[in-house]
Amino acid sequence: MAASVGEVLISSEQLELRIQELGSQISRDYAGKDLVMVGVLRGAVVFIADLLRQLEVPCEIDFMAVSSYGSSRDSSGVVRILKDLDDSITGRDVLIVEDIVDSGLTLNYLMRNLRARDPASLEVCSLLTKPERRRVEVPIRYTGFEIPNTFVVGYGLDHAQRYRNLDYVASLPEDSVPTL
Ligand code: 5GP
Repeated sequence: MAASVGEVLISSEQLELRIQELGSQISRDYAGKDLVMVGVLRGAVVFIADLLRQLEVPCEIDFMAVSSYGSSRDSSGVVRILKDLDDSITGRDVLIVEDIVDSGLTLNYLMRNLRARDPASLEVCSLLTKPERRRVEVPIRYTGFEIPNTFVVGYGLDHAQRYRNLDYVASLPEDSVPTL
């Protein structure tokens, strides 16, 4: 374990098993459809790479980057698009792939933005969710794990760009991060 992280919340074995299950479910649901997975940079990169390899249906991937917390723990609610999709999603079956849904503000913004482009369908798959922290309700079709109200890192999730490389999800002790 990396020296400065806290308790391991989700092991690499648990991640692997759950992602296999999600892959099977998504493959069943999207059989015969025109699936485009939209990964949200940068946190969802590790998850989308593993999820993609569990799919048994044709799919394309595209990416968006939105502004995130920087090095603080709380969402400002202001979302900026830093990188837009490369291709059109009009008439296609879009699955947003997120690392974590916390307040729901980022996803709420993304869904409204993408829905305006007239996809055939728009659903969300999030590896993690913190239901206690929700400020706006967002429909998450596929969820990997519900976690308590704690700041987590690893498996793509960072703090100040560190820890993305861990192959498990761990909490970050309160005193490691300045709160707003
Ligand atoms: P929301 O808009 O739902 O509050 O926040 C979504 C984004 O905030 C996520 O995509 C992620 O970038 C970041 N985030 C929320 N909670 C955590 C967390 O516990 N750890 C990390 N590393 N990022 C988080």
